[in-house]
Amino acid sequence: MRKPERFRRFLDYFINNFPEPKTELQYGNPYELIVAVVLSAQCTDKRVNLVMPALLEQFPTPYQLAAASAEEIFPFIRSVSYPNNKAKHLAGLGRMLVNDFGGEVPSTIEELQRLPGVGRKTANVVVSVIYNQPAMAVDTHVFRVSHRLGLVNRTATTPLAVEKELLRYTPEEVVAKAHHWLILHGRYICVARQPKCGICPLTDCCRYYEVNFATAPSRPLPPPAANDLL
Ligand code: SF4
Repeated sequence: MRKPERFRRFLDYFINNFPEPKTELQYGNPYELIVAVVLSAQCTDKRVNLVMPALLEQFPTPYQLAAASAEEIFPFIRSVSYPNNKAKHLAGLGRMLVNDFGGEVPSTIEELQRLPGVGRKTANVVVSVIYNQPAMAVDTHVFRVSHRLGLVNRTATTPLAVEKELLRYTPEEVVAKAHHWLILHGRYICVARQPKCGICPLTDCCRYYEVNFATAPSRPLPPPAANDLL
């Protein structure tokens, strides 16, 4: 199957079955989302959702966060991964939001990437979820599922290369949704260690399935791994 057909089949399935996907992070405004996304690096959304209420009660706006030290933030996020680094990032993020952006979360990828703890993936999530821009954030799920399905070439070995290929073939109006579809599919069906192909609705357009099961290959392909995904 050619790549455009795989895309069409993948998009048609989700457009018809999950037309309004949402991030599983809980947030009420752009400030809360960017804090949650910073905390979610290498951590589950479930864990982040657990720590957010107490964190936001103590630091409800960028102004309270800007006035806090990393040591004061740490106890509220000690159960997420890399709490020391993230506490430092949040303290710096609060200060920069207040000092450089008037207490508002900026709306461009370039400005967002100036914030401590905010890489390209986080910036893409914010502009996509908050500002409805056609940005594709590539996390470990998006990277893995795109490769398994065959939506990207095997030569796309970095998150940026995957992002560019996905954007090339995804209609602009569904880019933000496609990001969520790939994440949810990777989280619940096309899981990292053992993809649940037996219950997957995309076997007829999946490159991994085609190579490993449909044509009875002599040597199964290993699942791709993503490195340095922030
Ligand atoms: S068929 Fe298997 S490998 Fe392909 S997308 Fe579905 S779960 Fe993943």
